[in-house]
Amino acid sequence: MTPLEVLNPATEKPIATLERAGIEETDRAVAAARAAYPAWRAVKPADRARLLRRVAALVEEHADGLARLETANVGKPLGDSRWEMGMVADVFHFYAGAVEKHYGDTIPVAGGVDLTFREPLGVVGLIVPWNFPLMLASWKLGPALACGNTVVLKPAELTPLTALRFSELALEAGIPEGVVNVVVGPGSVAGERLIAHPDVAKIGFTGSTEVGRHVMEGAAKTIKRVTLELGGKSANVIFEDADLERAAAAAPGAVFGNAGQDCCARSRILVQKSVYDRFMKLLVDATSKFRVGDPEQEGTDMGPLISADHRRKVAAFVNGTPLFKGKVPDGDGFWFPCTLVAATNEDPVAREEVFGPVAAVIPFTDEEDAVRIANDTPYGLSGSIWTRNGARALRVARALETGVLSINSNSSVRVTTPFGGFKQSGFGRELGMHAMAGYSEVKNVFISTEA
Ligand code: NAD
Repeated sequence: MTPLEVLNPATEKPIATLERAGIEETDRAVAAARAAYPAWRAVKPADRARLLRRVAALVEEHADGLARLETANVGKPLGDSRWEMGMVADVFHFYAGAVEKHYGDTIPVAGGVDLTFREPLGVVGLIVPWNFPLMLASWKLGPALACGNTVVLKPAELTPLTALRFSELALEAGIPEGVVNVVVGPGSVAGERLIAHPDVAKIGFTGSTEVGRHVMEGAAKTIKRVTLELGGKSANVIFEDADLERAAAAAPGAVFGNAGQDCCARSRILVQKSVYDRFMKLLVDATSKFRVGDPEQEGTDMGPLISADHRRKVAAFVNGTPLFKGKVPDGDGFWFPCTLVAATNEDPVAREEVFGPVAAVIPFTDEEDAVRIANDTPYGLSGSIWTRNGARALRVARALETGVLSINSNSSVRVTTPFGGFKQSGFGRELGMHAMAGYSEVKNVFISTEA
């Protein structure tokens, strides 16, 4: 295979050249993970916890270098990368603590004692996208390793650098060879091989709904377990009784953060008609202050898109005159301006995941209309509700078909709380103790006490 040239999307210049893993290399990684599995699952829980804690400490120690590498490879602002590396470290701290707290039950039965055990699955394949490369990998690595599995991680080809650096840190922390393997190869070759491989027990996948569907089909052949974290088209619902200033100040970050390349992007802004004009003035003002530019510069809010190809796809969603279009730097870099477009929920920009800094602004009449529009999508990942009426906030939160919601906030992810989708945004939960269920099987054992 031709070598893989890794680019900096802010400069369009190559920053690394790597060999691509094919079927043979993927098979070797699976074989290494399989060979390492019996010893890793037998490591004493306290020792496994200690090793994961050392991983967390090394990520903290190297956070600045990892953040700079992520920024150079993804084009995201350095402040964002630093936050992500902080979360990676916290994820390993959390799952270090989880190792010894993930236990089974004793169940009342006749004639004996019944016990459940939480067993690891074996070798798990982890396939992740390019938008939050190491952070999303850590959400899978943490629980997978804590449960006693060994892993083969396949990062996106556009953004493999922090995964490779992480694998070095894992070894330095004392994680035995073969427990964490990284294959840098195309989805259509290395990814496919992981899905088909008979020795891979599970695929933990984050990516598009289209590829997720394919993963699920492929996994059926060997009855692999799958968790799927897929696309989103989330709503940011602004009621007339909201603190409009606060809601408007927060809205740009909710959709233009990570240049809109965020599965949780609130890319449909639903605004109650009675406050539409007032809110839009505030929103345009807040969006015009969103700083787009050099991701390595402190204070930048948004960098470029990931690639020229992706920029073409994003641009195709903007037709006619937008409500607002921001500025971008001159010169090289895959820049795209913050863009607000007036839409109905039937327009492609409101139905499809744009995955760029483009928000569809949609008016609604009342609470019922807001819930109807927000739920009228095949996706169900995230969302926000802005209102000062507590009963309404909870009523609407219960009515929305989505996995993660915030009220008067943009927040989507926390290390300790479950994250995942409804509908075609996928299934299975990451983060918190919920993720441990996805990387273990329940085994039931009955012991007779009959004389
Ligand atoms: P993608 O689906 O194109 O690729 C994701 C990963 O799958 C990559 O590693 C890729 O190489 C691999 N892949 C591609 N084709 C494959 C195949 N045939 N077999 C096996 N693996 C294959 O997604 P992307 O463009 O890298 O990322 C953007 C998408 O990810 C968006 O849809 C976004 O919403 C989604 N995403 C979801 C979450 C979440 O938690 N729900 C988080 C981040 C991103």
